[in-house]
Amino acid sequence: MEFDDLIKEIKKYNEKANFDLIKEGYEFSKKAHERQKRASGEEFIQHPLNVAKILAELKLDEEIIIAALLHDVVEDTDTGYKEIEERFGKNVGLIVRGVTKINRLKAKTAKDYKAEVVRKMLIASAKDIRVIILKLADKLHNMRTLEYLDVEDRKRIAKEAMEIYAPIAYRIGLATIKWELEDRAFHYLEPEIYDEFKLGVAKKRKQREKEIRKVISILNKELRKNEIKAEITGRPKHFYSIYQKMKAKNKDFDEIYDLVGIRIITESKEDCYKVLGIVHNLWKPIPKEFDDYIANPKENMYQSLHTVMIGAEEQRIEIQIRTREMHNIAEEGIAAHWGYKGFKGDRFDKRLSWLRQILDWRREAKVDVIKAMRVNFFEDSIFTFTPKGEIIELPRGSTPVDFAYAVHSDLGDRCNGARINEKFVSLRHELKDGDVVEILTSKQHTPSRDWLKFVKSSKAKEKIKRAIKLKQGIAINAPIEIIKKDVNESLFKAEGIRDENIKIAKCCDVMPGDKIAGIKSDSGKVNVHLVSCKSLMDSKKVIDVEWKDYFKGVVNIRVNAIDRVGLLADILNTVAITRTNVREAKVTTTSRGYADNTFTIDFNSLESLKDLIIRIRKIADVKRVRIE
Ligand code: MN
Repeated sequence: MEFDDLIKEIKKYNEKANFDLIKEGYEFSKKAHERQKRASGEEFIQHPLNVAKILAELKLDEEIIIAALLHDVVEDTDTGYKEIEERFGKNVGLIVRGVTKINRLKAKTAKDYKAEVVRKMLIASAKDIRVIILKLADKLHNMRTLEYLDVEDRKRIAKEAMEIYAPIAYRIGLATIKWELEDRAFHYLEPEIYDEFKLGVAKKRKQREKEIRKVISILNKELRKNEIKAEITGRPKHFYSIYQKMKAKNKDFDEIYDLVGIRIITESKEDCYKVLGIVHNLWKPIPKEFDDYIANPKENMYQSLHTVMIGAEEQRIEIQIRTREMHNIAEEGIAAHWGYKGFKGDRFDKRLSWLRQILDWRREAKVDVIKAMRVNFFEDSIFTFTPKGEIIELPRGSTPVDFAYAVHSDLGDRCNGARINEKFVSLRHELKDGDVVEILTSKQHTPSRDWLKFVKSSKAKEKIKRAIKLKQGIAINAPIEIIKKDVNESLFKAEGIRDENIKIAKCCDVMPGDKIAGIKSDSGKVNVHLVSCKSLMDSKKVIDVEWKDYFKGVVNIRVNAIDRVGLLADILNTVAITRTNVREAKVTTTSRGYADNTFTIDFNSLESLKDLIIRIRKIADVKRVRIE
């Protein structure tokens, strides 16, 4: 391919492009890649040149085309961004930088890699969506020239194309790129099936084309009669989509492939519906196969009417009806919307709301990708990461404290330092997109009132205020008197024994649901033990005791722990999570640094009592939790 081929392509839609600058970009890249060759043996410059042409075919602006020419310059050579920015402008520099970042990702494990790529794409595109578009074109050209690599590389790259890039292309609405990526990846991943398809298609082509021509001529006649102008074409079938349909519908190749696919492009929305009426009169429609994506566009903005009918020879006729504009969006998505007119201004802003939806991977993405993708693009947010790679979205201007609270309130309460991208920073440090944040904690540490001056997220503010309140509660440190239980209800029932005479034995930490038995004392009181308790073996006065079926009342829970700052706060927070109500808390500290706390809590059921005990037992430094 020659440079002039690119220029010709651009001139088709943008006579006013800055061809001098594009040429300069080309020369710059050519020089930078001077001594490099591709695996195919071609001059390296052929790669950026072809990538630029793919983008020109999408009628995109000159900035992304120049960036395409330069996209491997930094990656593969010594040339820096600065020079690119100075010579070609800030935007071009930004796009090149974004693409390079994605390219520099190294696969740790296949799973990590996938999530990482998607994340980097997100971050990069939050600044400029053109980064993704350029990366897709780059990938597409690499897929077109994959045959020159060895088998292992082919498979790996094809898998990436299938799993990462094709879905992204779909989300952005770049359908033509999606199909090509999929078909080419399919070829390398399932070579036998692919070859079978190719043979099958070749064998049936003539018959199929004949049928399509027949249907088209009937349609043309009918539309003319009704004075509707429309363009009717046979629809190409993509190998991979045939394959997917075969798998999904459990049908064989012939059944899927034999259908007649037709596309009708009208001049107006009204005509779409008129045409629908006409075709439904010509053939017998299958009602459950009808979809109105004009009234209900897909999340990638796709609009069309889909209908399937049974023809005279019992063949399936699938028809898509849409306007020219809808068609362009279906084929080119974002590119059709913005094109060379640029990506900025009102027009751009208006598109952002649907872009957000596009990039919301709810439907088909797996969990890790969903997490990565469930971020609001372009809003005043930044995306940061935990050392494990989990994405944390924060308001712009956020600090490590905001980050810590976003991860977990416990982490926030205890944070006393941070490392960002492995460098130590202060807690006031402003985080940036893509930062990997590691929070350092200390058990002794508690939230400081000062933090309220610099945190940005409302979550952090709320949590800090709450922690300070709780801390003040501890500072007073006066043991609160326990009021006598006003509901004298027992958790247990034993025949002939009054509730107030049943108690849990000191030796046993019983939990709701545990198998229990009672020992009746001479005074008629009953101590409840676990059935496994040794004291039952020694006693002759064992009686049956059962948990009540329904329980609603007040219970004392005693918590023994190694005392530390924030312990009470942790316990009270845990109680708050279970939405139970603490009536009283008695806090005492023994001389040896042990805390002996008793909480009087309202419960609605034995289940919630059990749940709370389990949760409190998990709190750090808690040694024993029992019902009293
Ligand atoms: Mn490249």
